[in-house]
Amino acid sequence: MKYDAIILGAGLSGLAAGIRLACFDKKVCIVEKHVEIGGLNSFYQMKDRWFDVGLHAMTNYSPKGVRSSPLGKLLKQLRFKHEDFQLCQQKESEISFPGVSLRFSNDFELFRQEISEKFPNQIDGFDQLTQRIRDHDDLSLKSGFLSSRSVLAEYLTEPKLAEMLFCPLMFYGNPQADDMDFTQFTIMFKAIFLEGFAKPLGGMRHILKLMVDKYKSYGGELRLGRAVKSLNLSSEEVNSVTLSKGEELQAETVISSIGYAETMRLCAPEKFPEDSLQDGEISFVESQYVLNVQPSEIGYDKSIVFFNTKDEFSYRKPKEMVDLASGIVCCANNFDYPKEQEGLIRFTFLANPDLWFGLSRTEYKEAKSYWQKKTLEAVVGFLPDFRDSVVFLDTFTPKTIKKFTGHANGAVYGSPVKIRDGKTPVKNLFICGTDQGFLGIIGATLSGVTVANIYGLKASY
Ligand SMILES: Cc1cc2nc3c(=O)[nH]c(=O)nc-3n(C[C@H](O)[C@H](O)[C@H](O)COP(=O)(O)OP(=O)(O)OC[C@H]3O[C@@H](n4cnc5c(N)ncnc54)[C@H](O)[C@@H]3O)c2cc1C
Repeated sequence: MKYDAIILGAGLSGLAAGIRLACFDKKVCIVEKHVEIGGLNSFYQMKDRWFDVGLHAMTNYSPKGVRSSPLGKLLKQLRFKHEDFQLCQQKESEISFPGVSLRFSNDFELFRQEISEKFPNQIDGFDQLTQRIRDHDDLSLKSGFLSSRSVLAEYLTEPKLAEMLFCPLMFYGNPQADDMDFTQFTIMFKAIFLEGFAKPLGGMRHILKLMVDKYKSYGGELRLGRAVKSLNLSSEEVNSVTLSKGEELQAETVISSIGYAETMRLCAPEKFPEDSLQDGEISFVESQYVLNVQPSEIGYDKSIVFFNTKDEFSYRKPKEMVDLASGIVCCANNFDYPKEQEGLIRFTFLANPDLWFGLSRTEYKEAKSYWQKKTLEAVVGFLPDFRDSVVFLDTFTPKTIKKFTGHANGAVYGSPVKIRDGKTPVKNLFICGTDQGFLGIIGATLSGVTVANIYGLKASY
């Protein structure tokens, strides 16, 4: 049997691509190597509690009725109603640097006001930068690399303010060390400062379930627990796809969400040698702490804090296993949930994948508990001490991310080289998701929609 499309990966982009194709009566099969859907944004159960893997917050919040926003477009394309996602907005977040902090919320005016108070001589430049960002076409599939550091230097003379802007935008969506492509900067600036954060009631499990139900309701096929082992080429096209249990499938079009290098490694290695493929290196360690109190009761009232303990913000693979100098603290409770949930604080730090991958099983266990302690000490150094209230703790590392998503190096944002138009050298093989360059929950989902629309529905390649 021949499918119209086979999709590699049942993360957000793969599921979104599947829904778009299936709803136009295409015969689609999504193949996912894990037994669970969601990929980088999946969920898991431990000691009777459900946890999200990759959810601090959903960026790009926009209210009901705004159809031109990324969220509005996504809902329309996937045929969901705004209320289906059960989004609860953030209360207030913060960027915290030595001696200065900037608060922001889903009302951009608060952020602007904070900048005009804390950096009065920068506000004109910041306004001009904001206008340039608003005018920038970040959906272009053709843009090349433009250094954000050089663009920001045109508008801001205070380096600390630039570093403070970079901190959340890089942490939430930059696959590159030190600098950031300006298009990616504008996407993240709009997603975080101009639009804002929300969390779905019920976590990502809720949204993923909606997506998979919709996909199946259109007749889409989902094969869980089946890894694609090879993409078999003949005359510059994928002719068939071999799955882990030896099964072979055929399709007109193949869309892969597993990463560009990871995809090309499944094709003929002599055609795509290792030195032509570039893996990402930006990875994280993250710990989730369940508390027996509400964080607000112990004086912690922010939704998300992006902190940096030095004047300069370093965003790169650290020399040590974990970089304690900066990170993210996210409090799931400080969103507008209609009812109280168990206290949950999670924090994230940059990590060095090579050092984590090089450990034996015993060393890995020891390193995990050592860095759990160190990261906790770093956080309670500037936030209220919640150590007496912890009832459960779980930590994951670059090794965990690699194991559960297949992304080389456990690189959360994939390769620094993005394939904006989704095309590969193989005629009927396309990339969506992380390595197409649209990151995060909304970005990855829209990427799946876009690639499906262009190559799966119009077949314009
Ligand atoms: C710790 C962490 C925190 C995050 N926090 C946020 C956040 O707060 N807000 C936000 O918006 N975004 C966040 N993200 C980012 C967001 O999760 C991702 O950008 C998004 O989920 C990527 O989706 P994707 O579909 O592109 O890729 P993936 O989710 O990686 O999907 C790829 C899928 O392909 C499967 N696969 C791999 N190899 C094969 C194979 N050979 N055969 C079959 N299947 C295969 C994988 O198992 C996976 O399910 C976070 C990510 C992490 C890891």
